[in-house]
Amino acid sequence: MARHGSAKPFTAVRIRLRPQIPIIKAASPLKVTFLGTGTSQGIPVIACGCEVCQSPDPKDKRLRTSIHVEINGLSLVVDTGPDFRQQMLRENINTLDAVIFTHAHKDHIAGMDDIRAYNFIQQKAVPIYADKIVQEALRRDFHYVFADEKYPGIPEVEMNTIEYNTPFTIGTTKIEPIMVWHYRLPVLGFRFGDFTYITDANRIDEVEKEKIKGSKALVLNALRKTEHISHFTLDEAIALAQELQVPDTYLIHLSHQMGRHEEVTKELPKGIHIAYDGLQLNID
Ligand SMILES: [Zn+2]
Ligand SMILES: [Zn+2]
Ligand SMILES: [Zn+2]
Repeated sequence: MARHGSAKPFTAVRIRLRPQIPIIKAASPLKVTFLGTGTSQGIPVIACGCEVCQSPDPKDKRLRTSIHVEINGLSLVVDTGPDFRQQMLRENINTLDAVIFTHAHKDHIAGMDDIRAYNFIQQKAVPIYADKIVQEALRRDFHYVFADEKYPGIPEVEMNTIEYNTPFTIGTTKIEPIMVWHYRLPVLGFRFGDFTYITDANRIDEVEKEKIKGSKALVLNALRKTEHISHFTLDEAIALAQELQVPDTYLIHLSHQMGRHEEVTKELPKGIHIAYDGLQLNID
C-alpha cells in the first residue's frame, strides 16, 4: 500500500531531528519505617539473661522483622509477623492498602489475623500479595479465612499472586520481586523505586543481584557474626552490600548473638548501618 512507502522515510527523519530526551522516569519518593528488626525470637529472648537481652538501650529491643512503606499515597506492609498488632499501634498506622509477603515462616506471617481491624475501619478486604508457596501456607495456617462458610468477624483478604521475574503493581506503584535463597527456600525481596528490601536470605543468584544494583538504599538480613545455615552473617552482608555498591545498607533480622546495637555499630564500615525498631528512612 502507498501509505507504507511514504510513512517509513518520514518516521526516520522525524526521529533524527528530535532532541535526545532520556526516558528515565524518576522514582517516587518513599518513606520506610522499620516495624521490627529482630530474628524469629525477637530481642529480648524470653528468659535470656545475656547482656543484649538485658540491655537498657531501646535500640536493643527488637520485634520480629517487618517494614511499612509509604509510596504514592499507599500504605503497605511487608510481612505480618507475630508483633504486627503492636507495631501498627506503635507507629499509628491507620490505613492499610496491602500486605506483601516475603515467605511463609511463622515470624513473617503469624500476625495476619490482626488485619481484621483494617477490614472493619476500611469496610473492605485487604489485598495481599504472595507467591504460590506462601499462599499454600496461609491457606493452611489461616484455614478459617479461606473457608467457604466464614465465621463472622474473621479477616477478609483478597489474594494476589506474585510470579517470580514479573514486576507487579499496586495502584500506580511498580514493585519488582527479587528471588533470594533462605537455605533451600525461595524468599522474595522487593524493589520499590530506588529502595530494595531483602530479609531471610543467605544466597542471591547473580541474575537477581542485577535487580538490586542502582538502589539508593538496601535492607539486608544479618543474623549474627558466626555462620548460619539460612541467614547472612554480619561479614557476608557487608561484603554483599559493598559488592552491590549501594550507598546505604541497613541490616535487619538480628539475633541477640549479634551483640549490642551500640557496640556492633562502632565496627561497621561507611554506608553500613544496623537498623532498629522505629527507624525511618525517606528516600527521594
Ligand atoms: Zn525470619
Ligand atoms: Zn539473650
Ligand atoms: Zn525465614
